Amino acid sequence: MKILAIESSCDETAAAVVEDGRRILSNVVISQIDIFKEYGGVIPEVAARSHLEAILPVIHKALKDASLTKDDIDYIAVTHTPGLLGSLLIGTLTARTLAILWKKPLYAVHHLKSHIYANWLGSETSAKTIFVQHGCVASHLKNRSEHSPSSQATALRKNVSAGVSQLANLPEFPLLALVVSGGHTQIIYMRAHNQFEIIGTTRDDAVGECFDKVAKILGLPYPGGPSIAECAKNGDEVRYKLPHPKVDGLDFSFSGLKTAVLRAVQAELDLPISTPSYELAGKLTEQEKADFAASFQETACDILIEKLKIALEDHPEARSVVFAGGVSANAVLREKALKTLMNGLRREKGDSRGEDVKLFFPDLRFAGDNAAMVGAAAYYEVMSGVEPTDPYELNIAPRKEIS
Ligand code: AMP
Ligand code: MG
Repeated sequence: MKILAIESSCDETAAAVVEDGRRILSNVVISQIDIFKEYGGVIPEVAARSHLEAILPVIHKALKDASLTKDDIDYIAVTHTPGLLGSLLIGTLTARTLAILWKKPLYAVHHLKSHIYANWLGSETSAKTIFVQHGCVASHLKNRSEHSPSSQATALRKNVSAGVSQLANLPEFPLLALVVSGGHTQIIYMRAHNQFEIIGTTRDDAVGECFDKVAKILGLPYPGGPSIAECAKNGDEVRYKLPHPKVDGLDFSFSGLKTAVLRAVQAELDLPISTPSYELAGKLTEQEKADFAASFQETACDILIEKLKIALEDHPEARSVVFAGGVSANAVLREKALKTLMNGLRREKGDSRGEDVKLFFPDLRFAGDNAAMVGAAAYYEVMSGVEPTDPYELNIAPRKEIS
């Protein structure tokens, strides 16, 4: 079963052809990061216009890379929720048009499902992922320039080799998914394919948003997550003590942590709390910035792992834990998860099934937004008996819970 998948929910325009939910025949991602670096964040109107410019060349390239024509495609899949309104519109209108013209069944996929299903994407990749910066789409496509998602990818891959070896297997049910992205922080319980129950969620900011906001305070470039991770490499993670939020159960709260960093920076600089955050970065030394980045990253990851531990205690039947979303690329989070959850959580408690919990991290190519994961999620919708959507009726939903 070959699915042409399309993703445009935020600031990446992507298309992929995925066979049988796992095999990636092509995967093209055009990032708008170079446009938004200048502004320190995404401007929705600009993102939508950039998607419009890129979407058809990206789809064309995905088919060409897979050496396929429209006649070889069995289904079309597209992200329809959640995301930026204008961005979602470009992807869904394109997918609807193609589904009507090419007479293909259309699947509308929830973005968080796709992030979770990135963990099913196989190692049997027959095509290289193409990552190009936006702004020079045409020339990149013409020259077939290929960039790895970031220079940290190789280093991270080495760091988490123990975890990556888990990718040879597939996640088993029931499972817990930790979804950590720019807009979401949730723990989701999955009894089986395509069944999602939110058992923990953030009450305010998402963890990725918190990385982005703290990066701004420290004067680090957009997007904040990778910048913090890079800067933290030279930092002391115990120099600044930051609080853990007191939230009962499996819910999260990250807005207090962001404010705690702001107050700690002001205190370090001996400035009153009324000092605006944009005046602070220029006064910090490089070492202070690195120590703040490391201390923040450590605390944010500890908070996530603590909640996962509680979730595993609540659900001793869970057989796998899968990580999903942009923040799942974070090397410290991966290392902490491997150390804390794999090597002992249940054995410490005398539970003989400790070894049975398997951890899965998406390959770094699929942690951020891409269309291959949309193809994987759509495949499992088809296999679960979900009916295709009417291409004349499909609407977008900027906000909608996974269900
Ligand atoms: P998503 O919303 O799933 O596309 O993920 C984007 C979010 O992931 C942004 O908030 C990024 O700052 C964050 N992110 C990306 N890479 C990393 C990283 N290595 N460490 C922490 N956060 C990251
Ligand atoms: Mg995303």
